[in-house]
Order: sequence, then structure tokens, then C-alpha cells
Amino acid sequence: MRFVYPEGKRKALTFSYDDGQSFDRRLAGLLRSAGMKGTFHLNSGNLGLLRGDEVFIRADELAEVYAGHEIACHGVQHRNPTTLSRQQLLLELQEDRKTLEKITGHLVQGMSYAFGNYDDETVRIARSLGILYSRTTRDTGSFFPPADFLEWHPTCHHDNELMKRADEFIDIAGFYELPVMYVWGHSFEFGRSGDWSVIEAFVEKMQGREDIWYATNMEICRYVLAARAQEFSADGLTMHNPTALSVWVSTGTGLLEIGPGETKDIGER
Ligand SMILES: [Zn+2]
Repeated sequence: MRFVYPEGKRKALTFSYDDGQSFDRRLAGLLRSAGMKGTFHLNSGNLGLLRGDEVFIRADELAEVYAGHEIACHGVQHRNPTTLSRQQLLLELQEDRKTLEKITGHLVQGMSYAFGNYDDETVRIARSLGILYSRTTRDTGSFFPPADFLEWHPTCHHDNELMKRADEFIDIAGFYELPVMYVWGHSFEFGRSGDWSVIEAFVEKMQGREDIWYATNMEICRYVLAARAQEFSADGLTMHNPTALSVWVSTGTGLLEIGPGETKDIGER
């Protein structure tokens, strides 16, 4: 058997965009109109701020701008995690979660490291504060889900051979299990230059594909963690799903959904 994504989709595509500037409005709309989902990592201390030519999304706009997407944290004030004292870092992350949860009415458990900077202590603190995943800025060019979601290295920044990666993802080799293409950046990179062509071309190419699950960072994180939590009989032919999510497997005889709490035979004895 092999794990597959919900409804038997073979692969997942997700986006991660940081800092919450006003250009997020256009990007979030572009993804939404193509049936895609992304995650927007916000600094709650910057909401509604006007700073030179930087305009940040207002708190009262979040629900509308990011409808259908995930809102995640990025630190209250975008301070460098590895410069702060432990107590400052704790506040920077905990207070960001609290504010964003209050505004959205949802749990906010995703993150990206400000400036992409982190060390072991940053990871420990984030994990202890209930953060389930955090994205780095280290492009891997690959499609493997991370070993540790608190160090989720993306596939590529949108300026780093995006269309080449898109072709590789479309033709991905069969040995990949639960592959994910993870694209990251900042919407102001399109907004300031006025050139949205790279992301528009990518969205056009990747939309409406039957074998792709379009999901937020958190949806993918939760699904992969659920797959990893599955329990099996000693002969590997019976699977028990102890999680609260349905998990899908592809077997010799077809596609199987194992619901929350269910136990099913997944092979012939
Ligand atoms: Zn940032």
C-alpha cells in the first residue's frame, strides 16, 4: 500500500506568503479564483500599518482578504528570532498567536520564521508554544514532506526556477509518497515591480489538475502527521486510524478511505 492524499489525489500543492502587505489581496484572489489554497504568515503588530511605501492589510480586512486560505504567524513585529532573548522570542510568538486567534476566531498554529532565521532553541520554543509547523527559507528543489514540520524547507521561492519545478512536479516519479510542491515568497515582490507574470503563469499551468490536492500548509501538515500516526497489524495487512482525519491509501485492489477511529484490511492474507 501507499499513502495518497484525500480522495486519492497523488500530490499536493501549497503556497506560503509572508508579511501581510496590501499586495496579498491580489495574490489571495488569484489563488482563490484558480481553486488553489495558500497560507499567509502575518505580523500582528504590523496590521493596518502605513510605513513609507509599505501598506499592511488591516485587522478588519483579514476575513475577506484571506477567505479560503490559512492565516499563520510570523512574529508580532518581524523580529529576528536568533537575536532575541528566550523571553522576548516567547512573547513575539505567543502574542502573535493570541492576537491572530482573537481576530480570526480560529486556532493559529502555523508559522514561518522571520528572515528565515532560526536555531534549535527557536524550534524548541515554537514547538512548546503549540506551533505545529514552521517554514524556513531554504529551497530544496524537492517534493518530500519534511522530516520535522518545525523545519519545513520549501521547494522553491517563486523566483527560483519555478516553472522548471512545475514541470518536474507534473512528471513526478512514482517513488514519491505524499509529494508536496511548496512555493514561497512575498506578494510585494510582484506588487512593487508590477510584474505578476511568473505567479500568473504558474497558477495557469497548475490549476484544475485532477491529481493535485490544493491545500493550505496546515491541511498538508495535519494530513501527513495523520498518515505517520497510522497503526498496523504485525503482518502489515490491517490498518487502524487513531486520528480525527480520514486517511486514504492506494492498494493493489484500489483506493481505500480509512475513517477516524476505523480499522480496515488493506491487503489479502
Ligand atoms: Zn517576513
